[in-house]
Amino acid sequence: MQKIKLGSHVKMAGKEMFLGSVKEAESYRANVLMLYTGAPQNTVRKEIGALNIEAGWEYAKKAGIEEIVVHAPYIINLGNTVKLETFELGVTFLEKEIKRTAAMRSRILVLHPGAHVGAGEEAGIAQIIKGLNLVLDKNEDDVFIALETMAGKGSELGATFEELKRIYDGVHKKDRLRVCFDTCHVNDAGYPLVEDYEGVLQQFDEVIGLSQIAVIHINDSMNPCGAHKDRHANIGEGYIGTDILKKIVHDGRFAEIPKILETPWICEEGSKEKTIPPYKEEIAMLLEV
Ligand code: FE
Ligand code: FE
Ligand code: ZN
Repeated sequence: MQKIKLGSHVKMAGKEMFLGSVKEAESYRANVLMLYTGAPQNTVRKEIGALNIEAGWEYAKKAGIEEIVVHAPYIINLGNTVKLETFELGVTFLEKEIKRTAAMRSRILVLHPGAHVGAGEEAGIAQIIKGLNLVLDKNEDDVFIALETMAGKGSELGATFEELKRIYDGVHKKDRLRVCFDTCHVNDAGYPLVEDYEGVLQQFDEVIGLSQIAVIHINDSMNPCGAHKDRHANIGEGYIGTDILKKIVHDGRFAEIPKILETPWICEEGSKEKTIPPYKEEIAMLLEV
C-alpha cells in the first residue's frame, strides 16, 4: 500500500534554515513538509545560497522525507486594482518565489489567489489573471502554482470553485496551475464537507477536476460551515471533526498528494503562549485506521 504523505507546516529560520525545517518535520514523524521561504507577512528573504538546501536534502533522504511544498507569503495580492504598487510588488515577488521554490527542489508553490479590496469580484479576478499571466508567460521553471481554496474572509477571492475555475480560464499556461484544497477554508466557504463529503468532492470534480488538487491542507475549523472566518482548529476540536479529516487523509484518490497540517500550536498548562506544536500527535492520530 502507498504510504500516506502527511506532514505539517514547519519553520525555516536560524542558522540551520532548511536543515532545521527537515529536522522539525522528522520530529513529528512526517514524510512531507511545507514551509515559507521567510516570514509569511513580509518580503524579506535570504539569498538562496543561505537557505542550506544541500544539507537539508541530505538529511531529508535519511529521514524519509521526499517531498516539500512551499507557501508564498500572504502579502502577495495579485487581486489588488486599488493600489498598483501592491499588485506590482506581488508580481515581482511571485517571480522570485518561483525561483526559490525551484531552487529548493519543490514543484509546488501554494498561493492565495488574492483579494479585491473593494473593487469587486470581477475586477479582482481579472487582475489576478493578469498577474499570473505576467509571471507565467515568461517563466519556464518546473513549478506549479497551487491556488488555495479560500474561506471568503473580507474580500478574498477563490472561495468558490467557480472563482478558481474563472482564474484557470483566463491564464494562458493552465498546465502550470493546480489547487491547494484547504479543509478549513472549504468548510468556512460554505461547502458541507461534514454532511456531504462525496458531494463536495463531486462538485469540485465537475467544476475544476479532482486531478488538479496538488496539495491538501488538513485543518479543523473553529467555525461552522459558511462562517467565512478562516480560524484553524486542532484536529477533532472544531466543526469538521476527526472522522472527515481522516477520511480525506486516507482517501485513495489523493494517495499521491501531500497533506499538510496548519493547525495551531498549543499552550502549556497555565500559559497563554502557544509553545507546543501539536503535529506529532495529530499526524499519529490521523494515520490510525
Ligand atoms: Fe494558505
Ligand atoms: Fe491553508
Ligand atoms: Zn487558513
